[in-house]
Amino acid sequence: MQIVFLGPPGAGKGTQSARLIKYLSIPHLSTGEMLRKAISEGQEIGEYVRGFLEHGQLVPDPVILQLVGERLEQPDCSAGCLFDGFPRTLKQAQALDEFLQERGTPLHVVLELKVDPEALVARLLGRGRPDDQPEIVLKRFRSYEEQTRPVADYYERLGLLRSIDAMGTPDEVFARIQKAVDEAAQQAAKNSTQVRSNRS
Ligand code: AMP
Repeated sequence: MQIVFLGPPGAGKGTQSARLIKYLSIPHLSTGEMLRKAISEGQEIGEYVRGFLEHGQLVPDPVILQLVGERLEQPDCSAGCLFDGFPRTLKQAQALDEFLQERGTPLHVVLELKVDPEALVARLLGRGRPDDQPEIVLKRFRSYEEQTRPVADYYERLGLLRSIDAMGTPDEVFARIQKAVDEAAQQAAKNSTQVRSNRS
């Protein structure tokens, strides 16, 4: 399955994506991780993107699209993958559509973890990281909302967006994710049966 996973900082996306890739046996395509790896390995592209990451700014689309395009060429992605931290802009969302269309592997579902900002602050304060101060947490949350809202709206218009209530225990949240993913898989199976019977 091809899945896009969206969610603000502190919503539990890291924990849930780890469980989801295990459940579906698909690779995890995290652009943040790919960028951090390029930096730590001293790759040329890493030198270029370092400043963007340090300032919490988005890396320019062409760099991200090159990285994702190359990753999708690798054989382990042929059965699908979980896109995490990507797409972050409308341009990236449209480019992903094109990548997947060329490969004939459409996106099955876009999951968006939903938390209320106050609960998010309380949750992050519990972690005690230096960038988890309430004002900074709210700033990160708002910047996610501003940057990612158009991407979520885009998928909503395509009928692909599923909002997941991310409040509750990790098990409760994962059960909701599983349900959304299972329903999307059933829908995809139904659609392909219809296409086959329309052809015959
Ligand atoms: P993340 O681990 O997803 O929170 O990403 C960490 C940082 O990497 C972000 O603050 C951005 O600077 C950069 N980044 C990750 N993914 C993207 C993306 N899809 N587009 C632009 N910048 C990205």
